Amino acid sequence: MKKIIFTAITTFMLTNMANAQKIIAHRGYWDTENNAQNSIKSLKSAQEINAYGSEFDVLISADDVLVVNHDDNYLGYHIETTNSSILKTLKLPNGENMPTLEDYFAQGKKNKNVKLIFELKPHSSKKNEDRAVKKSIEIIKKNKVEKQIEIISFSQNICDEFKKLAPKYHVSYLAGDLSPKEVKARGWNGIDYHYSVFQKNPTWVKEAKELGLLVNVWTVNDKKIMQEMIDFDVDYITTDKPLVLKEILSKK
Ligand code: MG
Repeated sequence: MKKIIFTAITTFMLTNMANAQKIIAHRGYWDTENNAQNSIKSLKSAQEINAYGSEFDVLISADDVLVVNHDDNYLGYHIETTNSSILKTLKLPNGENMPTLEDYFAQGKKNKNVKLIFELKPHSSKKNEDRAVKKSIEIIKKNKVEKQIEIISFSQNICDEFKKLAPKYHVSYLAGDLSPKEVKARGWNGIDYHYSVFQKNPTWVKEAKELGLLVNVWTVNDKKIMQEMIDFDVDYITTDKPLVLKEILSKK
């Protein structure tokens, strides 16, 4: 009898573990003291709480340097048309300088268990996007982080370019305007959609998983919606509140 109960409990735990949603800290875990979105400190904080991944945004400078920042215009500078010598001096709200992708990888490599969820932002032209993809692959290879990164993008061109030049990279599409079938047909690996897309298309998570696509959802900060996405059985949840989600998942 004891053995049966033990087996049942173990099976239950393993089943639950297999299904547990993975937590991705949106723009790093920045919601702490003296922190800032997309800062090195936000990545360190995501590593400290053992998030599955730390998401960050990447743009290319005029002189071909990839920097980590969300906005294409920052403190009056248009990133794509500004040289990195200037961008590197710009301060984040916590006093850090704007990190380059190489700075971010240097910290990322210190904890290989935390995935680097690499969002390459749409740029103003296909030419700049292609340049950014090419440079991204070069820096990823140079830093030997191929196994630690997952690519995400709102730009269909960027998703296509990554699959063309680095077919083994995991690429997920962010914009929410293509069905799982359409994403699969493009040869990409996952959908990473706003939660409202899944609320409007409640069959998409299941459909995507049946097609072998990975399902991520952004950016879920509300407890009720976290639970709703857990019930949808998404694979990853991207959030500004990773500890709140951790708490909910621990009770699962
Ligand atoms: Mg992002």
